[in-house]
Amino acid sequence: CGVFGIWPELEASRQTYLGLYALQHRGQEAAGICSRDQGRLHLHKGQGYVADVFTEATLDRLPGDGAIGHTRYSTTGGNVASAAHPFLVEGRFGQIALCHNGNLTNTEELRNRLIQEGQVFSSPSDSEVILALINRAKAASVVEAVVEALRQVEGAFSVLIITKDKFMAARDPRGFRPLSMGRLGGATAFSSETCAFDLLGAEYVREVEAGELVVMDRDGLTSLFPRERIQARPCVFEHVYFARPDSFVYGLSVMGTRRDMGRLLARRHGVAADLVVPVPDSGVSAALGYSEESGIPFDFGLIRNHYVGRTFIEPRQSIRSFGVKVKLNPVRELLKGKRVVLVDDSVVRGTTSRKIVSMVRAAGAQEVHMRISSPPTTHPCFYGIDTPDREHLLAATRDLEAIREFIGADTIGYLTLEDLQTSVRDPDGGHFCYACFTGDYPVLPRSAAGRCG
Ligand code: 5GP
Ligand code: SF4
Ligand code: MG
Repeated sequence: CGVFGIWPELEASRQTYLGLYALQHRGQEAAGICSRDQGRLHLHKGQGYVADVFTEATLDRLPGDGAIGHTRYSTTGGNVASAAHPFLVEGRFGQIALCHNGNLTNTEELRNRLIQEGQVFSSPSDSEVILALINRAKAASVVEAVVEALRQVEGAFSVLIITKDKFMAARDPRGFRPLSMGRLGGATAFSSETCAFDLLGAEYVREVEAGELVVMDRDGLTSLFPRERIQARPCVFEHVYFARPDSFVYGLSVMGTRRDMGRLLARRHGVAADLVVPVPDSGVSAALGYSEESGIPFDFGLIRNHYVGRTFIEPRQSIRSFGVKVKLNPVRELLKGKRVVLVDDSVVRGTTSRKIVSMVRAAGAQEVHMRISSPPTTHPCFYGIDTPDREHLLAATRDLEAIREFIGADTIGYLTLEDLQTSVRDPDGGHFCYACFTGDYPVLPRSAAGRCG
């Protein structure tokens, strides 16, 4: 998911709308904005793209100088309307709204306990659990109540909270999901990615630190650390796939790290070939790096249709590989008779990759060499990236040769873990989460209900 918020800014909801536009790639299931006008909160949210959910009229109904917003990417919580963010409730501290990127790992435990205590829930989302913990805290002030709540939740969260007089931003102690702070004139903005600051003309200030709770009100900005500080383990997959290449994530250029992944991939898995072709869009930056390092020319041998919505009407008569073809089409003129290096960022189930390889062959490629700019994905993520269970991960149960055969490529080469670590400037491997590639989970997953990336 993507989160964006800004305060104090005259057109807070419109700026948030723009911010969410830049974060659309982080979630296409639902979008929402909650604004604050003279101590009252106003909410609008719905299923679909940011552009579908909001109109001039709905934005007019979100007045005020503070706003938080969210783009939702559903994981196991499912694509249900009740799971759209922000969540707005009224309790001991008056109105309070929250939106959340990440995935708590002790949701089920907390939820069961809260239900026993009399709490009711209206959705499977773990965000509602955080709101319930805030309302049931012993503390007298809302900030202390948030601190108390944040001490009980485990796993991944980058959250934005708005109340009648406070604006808060928090990141879990390991900082699994990104969250940056920016400045626009006299306003402070928070965003999952810096590309939203670029769109607004805001200036990047710093990261919200792992474990930090930033509180803003009329008296200014305060930084708190509700828990003991530990080694941060931010998600490396943001650099591999999830974030936009024009963003800086954890202070590193995503385009830069992806290019390096491609370069190192070329050094490790060189091959005699005529053309480097990215699987768009996620494979583009790494393919450029591969081409630069190997000297093999780069070209767009696959063209992506950018206008494919989340649902489309399938033809009655089956067309081979229809699902992939509607999104990607090979350029025969470029591929015919060529030995092609096909570069993608990751292989999850392998079903897409298999269809793409066969499509490239059908377009006349003589050889297809698959190169993946991350290590084999062998484990599911419990921290906000939607990965299937282990048995559906191609690399969880197969060796390299079986993967190559399944995909139908002439050769296959993955980035090594060491090379990935080099690409994100983490030579000793202790500064990121790599669990989907290693199974070494920084926080043991106890439950994964209501997951939301
Ligand atoms: P597969 O061959 O495993 O079916 O699909 C691989 C493709 O899925 C790659 O192009 C990769 O960019 C993409 N991918 C990896 N992780 C995710 C994810 O979390 N969500 C979506 N929509 N695509 C992903
Ligand atoms: Fe990121 Fe993978 Fe860790 Fe999930 S398991 S947080 S996708 S590195
Ligand atoms: Mg892709």
